[in-house]
Amino acid sequence: MPAAGLNKHLQEQLAGLKTQGLLKSERSIATPQDAEITVNGRAVVNFCANNYLGLSNHPEVVAAAEEGLKTWGYGLSSVRFICGTQSIHKQAEAQVARFFRKADAILYIACFDANGGLFEPLLGENDAVLSDALNHASIIDGVRLCKAKRLRYAHNDMNDLRAKLVEAKGCRFKMIFTDSVFSMDGDIARLADICELADEFDAIVGIDDCHATGHLGATGRGAAEVAGCLDRIDIITGTLGKTLGGGAGGFTVASAEVVEWLRNRSRPYLFSNSVPPSLVAAGMKALELVDGATDLRATLKAKTARLRAGLEAAGFTVKPGPTPILPVMLGDATVAAKMSELLLAAGVYVVGFSFPVVPQGQARIRIQVSAAHTAAQVDHAIDAFRSAGRELGVVA
Ligand SMILES: *Cc1c(COP(=O)(O)O)cnc(C)c1O
Repeated sequence: MPAAGLNKHLQEQLAGLKTQGLLKSERSIATPQDAEITVNGRAVVNFCANNYLGLSNHPEVVAAAEEGLKTWGYGLSSVRFICGTQSIHKQAEAQVARFFRKADAILYIACFDANGGLFEPLLGENDAVLSDALNHASIIDGVRLCKAKRLRYAHNDMNDLRAKLVEAKGCRFKMIFTDSVFSMDGDIARLADICELADEFDAIVGIDDCHATGHLGATGRGAAEVAGCLDRIDIITGTLGKTLGGGAGGFTVASAEVVEWLRNRSRPYLFSNSVPPSLVAAGMKALELVDGATDLRATLKAKTARLRAGLEAAGFTVKPGPTPILPVMLGDATVAAKMSELLLAAGVYVVGFSFPVVPQGQARIRIQVSAAHTAAQVDHAIDAFRSAGRELGVVA
């Protein structure tokens, strides 16, 4: 058995993860995704989904998926450029582009692919990409694949970004690329400052808006709308897998030339299957709902404020930020793990994060609020946090 050596090696590695408390185990959910779900046979309030507006199991989204399935069939058995483009793929791309006020959009199976296939086709060895140190893994991988000079600036540090832009002087194209919302901290990239620096240094600006599209900004256009610089941002990548229905699918919006080039050269687009039509149809419905979801965004804001205020009043340290991501800072990894267990037992499903996902000594529980949460569910979470926090000596 040639694989025996590898398997033995992996057994040891996995045992090592387990003793360090880093082995990931998956909890099975017995219900559709919602504010309340069933885990281990009991109902719990879900505070760890990216279901910010509650559209993941929205009846209109489900109906659109069913309609898409009936009208366009199940699968395409083709990449886009051979025989995998139906008219709804083109309609969806036009809708996404219009939403962000850009010339065109290109769909991918996931945003991981949108990011993975973005940099290599656009940038060559005479170019530079400047990326935030805390960028998502898919951006890091995408940047690794391109031949451009890679310059990493300290998280949200505009002095360091300026220094890196100076270092990149003389490069043909300079592209600044950042997560717009950083999912572990719930903070937003300093997009207005980034755009100003980009103007000064004649740089391209791109953002990954996965944790913002749909629920942030007055009309849901995401973090760039919050920062007031949507029209200055050149490239936006995003996902249908979070606020926009939570199914699957990613996209890149940009100029007509960039998108046309990606259709010709982006490897995850050229060499991977088309997005199934049911997902495209559901994504289009979710985007339409998001467009008119002023009330849902207001509800999300109000619920987030209520939860934050309640936790702070109970004595917890919650990282500041304008997003529905609330990192409750606990410091110690075992405390964070214990706390999430106690909370689950009390009917509140949250996840603790520790090193290496977050820096050493900054273990936390990350809460993600949804517009679908009721005030009673939010209050229940506050009570459960207070009780668990007292039991573990985190709060008085
Ligand atoms: C979730 C996420 C992705 C990946 O999106 P998928 O569509 O699930 O592949 C990429 N970037 C960021 C910042 C994300 O949060």
